Amino acid sequence: MSSAFKFKNFTSKLLAFLLILSSSHGAYVPKVNSDTDVIIIGAGPAGVAAATKLDQQGINVKVFEANEWIGGRVHSIKFGDAWVDLGAEWCHGEKENIVFDLMKESQVLQHPNYTFEMAVSDGHIVDEEFSTQLFTIFDELFTPDGARNSTVEDSVGTYFTKWAYHTFNLYVLSSEGAFSWFEPAALSDYKDCDGDHAITWNGLGYKTILDKLMANFDQKKINLLTVVKQITFDEDKDQVTVLLATGEKHTAKHVIFTPSLGVLKHDHKSLFQPPLPQRKVEAIEALGIGAVMKVMLHFPEHWWATNGSFSGYSFVWTQEDRDTLATQYRKGPYRNNLSWLTNFMGMYRVEQNPKVLSCWFTGEFVPEIETMSDDILLDGINFTINKFLGKKYNVQQPDDFRKSAWYSNEFVRGTYSYQTLASRKIQNPSANVILSQPILNKDNIPRILFAGEATHPRFYSTVHGAIESGFREADRLIEIIKH
Ligand SMILES: Cc1cc2nc3c(=O)[nH]c(=O)nc-3n(C[C@H](O)[C@H](O)[C@H](O)COP(=O)(O)OP(=O)(O)OC[C@H]3O[C@@H](n4cnc5c(N)ncnc54)[C@H](O)[C@@H]3O)c2cc1C
Repeated sequence: MSSAFKFKNFTSKLLAFLLILSSSHGAYVPKVNSDTDVIIIGAGPAGVAAATKLDQQGINVKVFEANEWIGGRVHSIKFGDAWVDLGAEWCHGEKENIVFDLMKESQVLQHPNYTFEMAVSDGHIVDEEFSTQLFTIFDELFTPDGARNSTVEDSVGTYFTKWAYHTFNLYVLSSEGAFSWFEPAALSDYKDCDGDHAITWNGLGYKTILDKLMANFDQKKINLLTVVKQITFDEDKDQVTVLLATGEKHTAKHVIFTPSLGVLKHDHKSLFQPPLPQRKVEAIEALGIGAVMKVMLHFPEHWWATNGSFSGYSFVWTQEDRDTLATQYRKGPYRNNLSWLTNFMGMYRVEQNPKVLSCWFTGEFVPEIETMSDDILLDGINFTINKFLGKKYNVQQPDDFRKSAWYSNEFVRGTYSYQTLASRKIQNPSANVILSQPILNKDNIPRILFAGEATHPRFYSTVHGAIESGFREADRLIEIIKH
């Protein structure tokens, strides 16, 4: 070990020690802060919704957020000519959708009417009308109330089994956020809101909804980079204690816990003292969460299709290319002779950002793709784009990029939840409802409450579900505190 390394290690320990000293006003005694009615853990859509609603009622709130931004899996960043979304991007539906309801008067929401071109790895582009027809069939088969009577023409069927099967697989994985399409249950409680499912934000990003919620909220009540390590609850006491990673302790009458199902799966044993009830643990273990990954590419010039209806390319690997890709392209992970590049689902245009394309990866390689070197990631992306589109376009190299890493972020650990076959065995109430049930004290007063997308019985996996769940738990407390 080099002396430089030892010195660095020693200095960081010394700094940490000094920090602990200063945060406890000179003596190494953890400070207990107890001036809060409600502590909210997490400043994603659910946490922000709960905090703003309680705050409007004059209830004293404090929010602890481990990451450095407000929004959780809503993460809009400035890139290229506009805001782009590394997380949630589209408002899914117009009826019974709280996001749409809150924003419909604002003129921000746009209806771009997406149509995808199917690009095949042998270099040809499938006729637009034909690929639209295929995607319509995908959609009809895939919706929960799927058109069971839809017929598949012979030629379409042949095409489907030969090439589009793999595309459909990736399409399902992007929608469910699972690593394998054998994990999500075909029948689920998920409810589609009627109306347009791909409503966009006119280049302002999904964060616009959070700005709207926080319009009259003092954002100083949100403590960023503040990691909660443990929530301790004694049913005989009227308060819950929250221990931060710094060693600081905070108490409140109620705590609303909003971190993801991924965080609960990984950390529930260390996070809750006493441990969560067995029923809740079973629900946490049975529900599913996987990951998708986005890579935003900025190009010096717009080199791809310019027709008005163009939205993006869906990549269809021929069986031959799938079988031989691991030998055609050796860099990065591959398993069972399958390359990580087969998880590159396609790419699409981004609102108000004419030089940006958003690439999507879905499937079992996503955790490894998130953590691979940027050099290999960009090299593999360039290889794939050239393979699919190089015959038709003068493909350029990107001059900038941004990537998401939801699965490897220890405070998220996945993208969105889904119901598995195991979770479907838990009924009346469902696993999602069990997840949402608060922990009560001996007088049946809720002390630890649970919000977040996975706690919504029908709109789990979405921002509108997360916001509704935050409002739900705020209402539960307003009822108790105000009456
Ligand atoms: C790539 C991607 C695309 C998506 N696309 C869409 C879409 O188009 N439309 C849609 O409706 N939904 C979409 N979603 C889903 C949507 O983003 C989520 O359902 C929603 O953001 C969940 O909100 P939440 O508040 O429940 O959880 P989160 O957003 O995960 O918020 C929880 C917060 O808790 C914090 N936290 C975790 N642990 C701790 C701790 N120990 N201490 C303190 N803080 C902690 C986290 O940092 C996080 O900020 C997408 C998600 C992803 C990742």
